[in-house]
Amino acid sequence: MHELAITEGIIKIVEKESQKYNFNKVNAIKLVVGELSGVFPQLIQDYFDIASKGTIAEGAELIIRRVEAKMRCNECGSEAKVENHRLRCRNCGSLNVKITSGKEFYVDSLEVD
Ligand SMILES: [Zn+2]
Repeated sequence: MHELAITEGIIKIVEKESQKYNFNKVNAIKLVVGELSGVFPQLIQDYFDIASKGTIAEGAELIIRRVEAKMRCNECGSEAKVENHRLRCRNCGSLNVKITSGKEFYVDSLEVD
C-alpha cells in the first residue's frame, strides 16, 4: 500500500526533526498534496492514526493542503487548470503541454511544543 509507506515516511521525518530540534510533542503536521500526486488524503489520515501510535507523532493533527493541477501550453503559453486529467490546451488545442503544479507531495511544516 502506497499510502501506508508514505505515512510511515512522514512519521520518520517527524522523528528525525524531533531529534534535530529537540521537541517532544507535535501538535500538527502540515502536508501539501497535489491533485495529481496520486495520494489520497483520507487514506493518509487513516494510516496515520494507526502508524503514529507510540511515536512522537501520535495525536498530531494532519493539516492537508490540496494543490490544484495546472498546466502550461508550450505552443501558445496559456495556463489552465487540468480538468479530468485531460492534458490538452483549451486555447489552441495543442497536446504539447507541461504540468506546472499538482504533482507535489511533501511535509510543509510542523507545529511543535
Ligand atoms: Zn496552447
